[in-house]
Amino acid sequence: MKKPKRDPTVAIQQSIYSRAKARADARGVTLIDYVNEILLLNIEKDDFLKKYAPYIETVSVGETIVLRDHKVNKLAEIYFKNGMLYCTQDESNDCMHIHFALALPQVIKLKGKSPR
Ligand SMILES: [Zn+2]
Repeated sequence: MKKPKRDPTVAIQQSIYSRAKARADARGVTLIDYVNEILLLNIEKDDFLKKYAPYIETVSVGETIVLRDHKVNKLAEIYFKNGMLYCTQDESNDCMHIHFALALPQVIKLKGKSPR
């Protein structure tokens, strides 16, 4: 007799579990549905970014986000300046690199940096 196929199981870190469970409860969905939705959305967002801006590559992410723009073959550094994201390539708060950076989950790691 064939066993029914079980879905794969992954371990969730305790600290993430409590935050995720609280979110799931607040939305009235199961933790399984909540986690699967978040995971799928992130994967699809990643795919979307690759289609939306295939010429932008994430070089590094830390206190600043460094992107390589293959259209102009230059690096764009994104960081916080006066409470807004700032792009060194365009010297602007509103360019493709900013839009791209905002869509990266790692944008939360950006720290304020004093203006140069
Ligand atoms: Zn830019």
